[in-house]
Amino acid sequence: MLRFWYPGAERRIDSLEQLREALDLLLLKYDVQFVGPVGRRYLAEYMVARPVAVFALACHYQWEASARQAARECLKLSHEELIDNDAAVFLGLIFADIYQSLLLYHKQCGEAAASADNDAVSGPPAFSWETCKQCHITPGSGRKQWISDFVVKLAEKLKDRPILALADVTLLAAPMQYIANCRGNCRLAGYNELPLLFGFSLPHSLTSALDKVELKLNFKD
Ligand SMILES: [Zn+2]
Repeated sequence: MLRFWYPGAERRIDSLEQLREALDLLLLKYDVQFVGPVGRRYLAEYMVARPVAVFALACHYQWEASARQAARECLKLSHEELIDNDAAVFLGLIFADIYQSLLLYHKQCGEAAASADNDAVSGPPAFSWETCKQCHITPGSGRKQWISDFVVKLAEKLKDRPILALADVTLLAAPMQYIANCRGNCRLAGYNELPLLFGFSLPHSLTSALDKVELKLNFKD
Protein backbone atom coordinates (compact mmCIF):
# COMPACT_ATOMS: atom_id res chain seq x y z
CA MET A 1 0.00 0.00 0.00
CA LEU A 2 2.84 2.39 0.74
CA ARG A 3 3.94 2.23 -2.88
CA PHE A 4 1.57 5.12 -3.64
CA TRP A 5 3.35 7.43 -1.26
CA TYR A 6 7.05 7.08 -1.92
CA PRO A 7 8.65 9.90 -3.94
CA GLY A 8 8.70 8.96 -7.61
CA ALA A 9 6.20 6.18 -7.03
CA GLU A 10 5.09 4.56 -10.27
CA ARG A 11 1.70 3.52 -9.00
CA ARG A 12 -0.96 6.16 -8.79
CA ILE A 13 -4.29 6.42 -7.06
CA ASP A 14 -6.91 6.08 -9.80
CA SER A 15 -10.14 6.77 -7.98
CA LEU A 16 -11.59 8.23 -4.82
CA GLU A 17 -12.64 4.73 -3.80
CA GLN A 18 -9.02 3.57 -4.07
CA LEU A 19 -7.81 6.63 -2.17
CA ARG A 20 -10.25 5.92 0.62
CA GLU A 21 -9.19 2.29 0.83
CA ALA A 22 -5.52 3.27 1.06
CA LEU A 23 -6.05 6.05 3.60
CA ASP A 24 -8.37 4.01 5.81
CA LEU A 25 -5.69 1.38 6.07
CA LEU A 26 -2.63 3.60 6.45
CA LEU A 27 -4.04 6.52 8.33
CA LEU A 28 -6.87 5.10 10.41
CA LYS A 29 -5.68 1.55 10.98
CA TYR A 30 -1.89 1.89 11.19
CA ASP A 31 -1.70 5.62 11.98
CA VAL A 32 0.95 6.30 9.33
CA GLN A 33 0.71 10.09 9.64
CA PHE A 34 3.23 10.99 6.96
CA VAL A 35 0.81 9.94 4.21
CA GLY A 36 -1.47 12.88 5.13
CA PRO A 37 -0.01 15.63 2.91
CA VAL A 38 0.19 13.39 -0.18
CA GLY A 39 -3.28 12.05 0.60
CA ARG A 40 -4.63 15.61 0.64
CA ARG A 41 -2.99 16.30 -2.71
CA TYR A 42 -4.64 13.21 -4.22
CA LEU A 43 -7.95 14.27 -2.73
CA ALA A 44 -7.66 17.78 -4.20
CA GLU A 45 -7.53 16.27 -7.69
CA TYR A 46 -11.22 15.34 -7.32
CA MET A 47 -12.29 18.67 -5.84
CA VAL A 48 -13.89 20.05 -9.02
CA ALA A 49 -15.44 16.85 -10.37
CA ARG A 50 -16.78 15.38 -7.10
CA PRO A 51 -16.91 18.11 -4.44
CA VAL A 52 -19.53 16.41 -2.24
CA ALA A 53 -17.56 13.18 -2.08
CA VAL A 54 -14.36 15.12 -1.40
CA PHE A 55 -16.10 17.04 1.39
CA ALA A 56 -17.21 13.78 2.99
CA LEU A 57 -13.77 12.21 2.76
CA ALA A 58 -12.04 15.32 4.08
CA CYS A 59 -14.39 15.26 7.08
CA HIS A 60 -13.84 11.52 7.48
CA TYR A 61 -10.10 12.19 7.96
CA GLN A 62 -10.79 15.47 9.81
CA TRP A 63 -8.93 17.56 7.24
CA GLU A 64 -10.63 20.84 7.92
CA ALA A 65 -9.02 23.04 5.25
CA SER A 66 -9.82 20.48 2.52
CA ALA A 67 -13.38 20.17 3.81
CA ARG A 68 -13.91 23.94 3.68
CA GLN A 69 -12.46 24.17 0.20
CA ALA A 70 -14.75 21.34 -0.98
CA ALA A 71 -17.80 23.01 0.59
CA ARG A 72 -17.01 26.17 -1.35
CA GLU A 73 -16.68 24.11 -4.53
CA CYS A 74 -20.13 22.65 -3.80
CA LEU A 75 -21.57 26.15 -4.32
CA LYS A 76 -21.14 25.55 -8.06
CA LEU A 77 -23.79 22.84 -7.78
CA SER A 78 -27.52 23.46 -7.83
CA HIS A 79 -29.42 22.42 -4.75
CA GLU A 80 -30.62 19.32 -6.57
CA GLU A 81 -27.12 18.35 -7.68
CA LEU A 82 -25.91 18.81 -4.13
CA ILE A 83 -28.41 16.26 -2.86
CA ASP A 84 -28.57 13.87 -5.79
CA ASN A 85 -25.06 12.76 -6.72
CA ASP A 86 -22.63 9.88 -6.57
CA ALA A 87 -21.31 10.62 -3.09
CA ALA A 88 -23.68 8.44 -1.04
CA VAL A 89 -21.08 5.84 -0.14
CA PHE A 90 -18.75 8.57 1.19
CA LEU A 91 -21.51 10.47 2.97
CA GLY A 92 -22.10 7.29 4.94
CA LEU A 93 -18.71 7.91 6.57
CA ILE A 94 -19.64 11.18 8.23
CA PHE A 95 -22.03 12.25 10.96
CA ALA A 96 -25.45 13.50 9.91
CA ASP A 97 -24.88 16.87 11.58
CA ILE A 98 -21.79 17.48 9.44
CA TYR A 99 -23.74 16.73 6.27
CA GLN A 100 -26.49 19.00 7.53
CA SER A 101 -23.90 21.76 7.98
CA LEU A 102 -23.00 21.43 4.31
CA LEU A 103 -26.65 21.67 3.23
CA LEU A 104 -27.21 24.66 5.48
CA TYR A 105 -24.06 26.35 4.20
CA HIS A 106 -25.23 25.91 0.60
CA LYS A 107 -28.66 27.31 1.45
CA GLN A 108 -27.29 30.32 3.34
CA CYS A 109 -24.79 31.03 0.56
CA GLY A 110 -27.67 30.94 -1.94
CA GLU A 111 -29.56 33.52 0.08
CA ALA A 112 -26.45 35.67 0.54
CA ALA A 113 -25.68 35.48 -3.21
CA ALA A 114 -29.23 36.41 -4.15
CA SER A 115 -29.13 39.59 -2.05
CA ALA A 116 -25.50 40.42 -2.90
CA ASP A 117 -26.64 40.85 -6.47
CA ASN A 118 -29.14 43.50 -5.35
CA ASP A 119 -26.42 45.45 -3.60
CA ALA A 120 -24.25 45.54 -6.70
CA VAL A 121 -27.06 46.68 -8.97
CA SER A 122 -28.25 49.48 -6.69
CA GLY A 123 -24.84 50.70 -5.46
CA PRO A 124 -22.14 52.73 -7.22
CA PRO A 125 -20.87 53.07 -9.88
CA ALA A 126 -23.65 54.97 -11.62
CA PHE A 127 -24.82 53.27 -14.78
CA SER A 128 -26.16 55.15 -17.75
CA TRP A 129 -29.57 53.48 -17.40
CA GLU A 130 -30.03 55.16 -14.01
CA THR A 131 -30.44 58.51 -15.75
CA CYS A 132 -32.78 57.19 -18.44
CA LYS A 133 -36.04 59.14 -18.62
CA GLN A 134 -37.69 56.85 -21.15
CA CYS A 135 -37.88 53.43 -19.55
CA HIS A 136 -40.63 52.43 -17.20
CA ILE A 137 -39.78 52.46 -13.48
CA THR A 138 -40.95 49.77 -11.08
CA PRO A 139 -43.31 51.51 -8.63
CA GLY A 140 -41.74 51.99 -5.22
CA SER A 141 -38.25 50.88 -6.18
CA GLY A 142 -36.99 53.82 -8.24
CA ARG A 143 -35.41 51.20 -10.46
CA LYS A 144 -36.00 50.60 -14.14
CA GLN A 145 -38.44 47.80 -14.79
CA TRP A 146 -36.00 45.87 -16.96
CA ILE A 147 -33.32 46.01 -14.25
CA SER A 148 -35.85 44.82 -11.65
CA ASP A 149 -36.82 41.90 -13.88
CA PHE A 150 -33.17 41.05 -14.46
CA VAL A 151 -32.38 41.18 -10.74
CA VAL A 152 -35.29 38.90 -9.86
CA LYS A 153 -34.27 36.31 -12.47
CA LEU A 154 -30.62 36.45 -11.44
CA ALA A 155 -31.46 36.15 -7.74
CA GLU A 156 -33.57 33.06 -8.44
CA LYS A 157 -30.63 31.41 -10.20
CA LEU A 158 -28.09 32.43 -7.59
CA LYS A 159 -30.26 31.12 -4.79
CA ASP A 160 -30.21 27.68 -6.33
CA ARG A 161 -26.62 27.75 -7.58
CA PRO A 162 -24.67 30.35 -5.58
CA ILE A 163 -21.57 30.55 -7.77
CA LEU A 164 -21.93 29.33 -11.32
CA ALA A 165 -25.23 31.08 -12.04
CA LEU A 166 -23.20 34.11 -13.08
CA ALA A 167 -21.66 32.07 -15.88
CA ASP A 168 -25.12 31.73 -17.43
CA VAL A 169 -24.91 34.40 -20.14
CA THR A 170 -28.42 33.60 -21.40
CA LEU A 171 -29.55 35.78 -18.46
CA LEU A 172 -28.24 38.78 -20.39
CA ALA A 173 -30.52 38.22 -23.38
CA ALA A 174 -33.63 39.89 -21.92
CA PRO A 175 -31.94 43.03 -20.54
CA MET A 176 -29.97 43.45 -23.78
CA GLN A 177 -33.29 43.43 -25.61
CA TYR A 178 -34.60 46.23 -23.38
CA ILE A 179 -31.45 48.26 -23.91
CA ALA A 180 -31.82 47.84 -27.67
CA ASN A 181 -35.41 49.07 -27.57
CA CYS A 182 -34.80 52.04 -25.26
CA ARG A 183 -34.85 55.50 -26.83
CA GLY A 184 -33.23 57.11 -23.81
CA ASN A 185 -30.03 56.82 -21.85
CA CYS A 186 -30.05 53.04 -21.36
CA ARG A 187 -28.91 52.85 -24.91
CA LEU A 188 -25.99 55.22 -24.41
CA ALA A 189 -23.60 52.80 -22.75
CA GLY A 190 -25.83 49.97 -21.58
CA TYR A 191 -24.28 47.49 -23.98
CA ASN A 192 -20.90 48.03 -22.38
CA GLU A 193 -22.07 48.56 -18.83
CA LEU A 194 -24.25 45.50 -18.46
CA PRO A 195 -21.46 42.99 -19.19
CA LEU A 196 -19.26 45.04 -16.84
CA LEU A 197 -21.85 44.70 -14.11
CA PHE A 198 -22.29 41.02 -14.83
CA GLY A 199 -18.63 40.15 -15.27
CA PHE A 200 -17.01 42.37 -12.66
CA SER A 201 -19.24 44.14 -10.10
CA LEU A 202 -21.55 41.20 -9.41
CA PRO A 203 -18.84 38.52 -9.04
CA HIS A 204 -16.97 40.88 -6.71
CA SER A 205 -19.94 41.49 -4.41
CA LEU A 206 -20.88 37.82 -4.67
CA THR A 207 -17.46 36.73 -3.42
CA SER A 208 -17.52 39.07 -0.43
CA ALA A 209 -21.08 38.00 0.46
CA LEU A 210 -20.11 34.32 0.33
CA ASP A 211 -17.01 34.96 2.44
CA LYS A 212 -19.25 36.11 5.26
CA VAL A 213 -21.21 32.83 5.42
CA GLU A 214 -19.84 30.48 8.03
CA LEU A 215 -19.57 26.73 7.52
CA LYS A 216 -19.92 25.11 10.93
CA LEU A 217 -17.71 22.07 11.32
CA ASN A 218 -17.41 20.31 14.63
CA PHE A 219 -15.38 17.17 14.27
CA LYS A 220 -15.92 14.50 16.87
CA ASP A 221 -13.41 11.89 17.86
ZN1 LIG B 1 -34.03 53.40 -20.94
